[in-house]
Amino acid sequence: MTVRTMSSAQVGAASVRDGLGRVVETARTIDEGHVADYIPELSHADPDLVGMSLVSVLGHRYDAGDAEARFTIQSISKPFVYALVHARLGREALHRRVGFEPSGEPFNAISLDDAGRPANPMINAGAIMVSALVDGATPASRFDVVLDGLSRFAGRALSVDEAVHASEADTGHRNRALASLMRSTGLLPREVDDATDVYFRQCAVEVTAGDLAVMGATLANDGVNPITGERVTDPESAQDTLSLMGSCGMYDRSGEWGVTVGFPAKSGVGGGIVAVKPGQFGVGTFAPPLDAAGNSARGVAMLRRLSEEYGGHLLAHPSAPASPIADVVEDAGTDAVLLRLRGELDFVAVEQVLHEIDRIEATASGVAVLTVDLTDVTRITGVARQLLGEAVDRTRGSARQILTIGPDR
Ligand code: GLN
Repeated sequence: MTVRTMSSAQVGAASVRDGLGRVVETARTIDEGHVADYIPELSHADPDLVGMSLVSVLGHRYDAGDAEARFTIQSISKPFVYALVHARLGREALHRRVGFEPSGEPFNAISLDDAGRPANPMINAGAIMVSALVDGATPASRFDVVLDGLSRFAGRALSVDEAVHASEADTGHRNRALASLMRSTGLLPREVDDATDVYFRQCAVEVTAGDLAVMGATLANDGVNPITGERVTDPESAQDTLSLMGSCGMYDRSGEWGVTVGFPAKSGVGGGIVAVKPGQFGVGTFAPPLDAAGNSARGVAMLRRLSEEYGGHLLAHPSAPASPIADVVEDAGTDAVLLRLRGELDFVAVEQVLHEIDRIEATASGVAVLTVDLTDVTRITGVARQLLGEAVDRTRGSARQILTIGPDR
């Protein structure tokens, strides 16, 4: 006899977890790439680890494979520190020191414009600039701000892998060279060693795929950590960060990523990738061997499959928009028409409503009052509210009026 021990809640969660588990198991069969060794300490990573975690904007978490294995965040720190500095300085002030443009070059390229401004914050030069803009008098106090911010994104107190930090601090000459070039043009506001010290430490922060999923879900959720409920950054900073992850997060493979996966992501040479479906979920993957572009080969494969299976591509859309019109009730006796709406009213939904209003008016010339019932509308966007409001105003005082009814519209 089979004894069933699962509660129905676990059965529900298991179906998502099993889906991720299959993605992880398929990825294990991919034999491609090499563990990073230009930072000597990274070469000790176990190449066979493969993990994945997904956290929804409702704060539900699903793990598969080695989702609890620890590794250093490396370049995946870049978007999160960018979001934190963006929240303090704002888009314009930050943009004066770091650009918005994909470099089309590897992560450690010398991608600076004539003024010495790095192309974007997802490559090393840009990230060194961004962490130099963190508030604080000393490198130690600036790093405290960074570590506290990354921890709030992850919803737990993160710490530094000291061995990896020491290893990069010993060998990070190219990053010091990038900082020196930016210092020479006057754009880098700190001494070279002060700037790279904070940057090397932020790259050595230890995380798991689960942490990355929570961090990604926080960006997906307009800057509010869906597990702790804490606002970590503001919606505009989260949106700008996701835009730059979308265009620059996978270095010189960002264009291909946009076509094949289609949602914002950021990779790190520690083997992690964070990916974000805005408004839906964050995903973290971990698998140390890297492809030629420095992105986790198995991580790329896992996210490509996830995007295909979960309909993740942001530019994929259903063929026809859902109709917001639940019912049209015409009362011949009173010349009144009731238009009952439901669900979410965004631009394309309200455009259907306005079109329907015109149709009713054109066909039923006797309509005196047209009542739009919003009782079952769950959400109304700014543009929808404005357009519907303008239509109502236009009929005010005339013989044929539009009225709206419903809770607080
Ligand atoms: N700390 C690494 C470096 O600066 C980060 C690079 C990466 O993850 N792509 O080289």
